[in-house]
Parts: sequence; structure tokens; C-alpha cells
Amino acid sequence: MIKWLLVIGVVAAVYYMFIKKKDSVSGASANTCKKDPQSKTDEAVEEMVECSKCGVYVEIDEAILSNGKYYCSKECLKG
Ligand SMILES: [Zn+2]
Repeated sequence: MIKWLLVIGVVAAVYYMFIKKKDSVSGASANTCKKDPQSKTDEAVEEMVECSKCGVYVEIDEAILSNGKYYCSKECLKG
């Protein structure tokens, strides 16, 4: 009986350490990741689009959309 308790105790300790380690790793990279499952969606939002003029890839947030085409800057939009 005591042997079983010891085994369960060791397994629980290892399991706890593993979980804690995993949490600290993910917490270091992104604090909101654990709490907010939508953080993956946020990464997907940072989509890269190609400038129709010069071919440079820019984040979709920083790209200028004009007539259905993306441009990296106002210069490219004009040109
Ligand atoms: Zn451009």
C-alpha cells in the first residue's frame, strides 16, 4: 500500500514539474497565450502582401490598399 502511494507521489511530482516547466516556457514567450486562445488568430492577421509596384512584401496592416491592389508605400501608390 505504501509502495503504491510512493509511486503515485513520484508520478504526481514528475507530472507537476512537467506542467510547471511547460507553463513557464509558454509564459516566457507570450504571457497572453495561455489565457487567450485567440492569440493564434492574431499571428494569422499579420499576413504579408506583395506590393503591386515594386514587389516588396509588407504586413497587411501597413500596406496601402487601392483598387484591389496592395502597395508598400505612397510612393508606389503614386507611381
Ligand atoms: Zn512598393
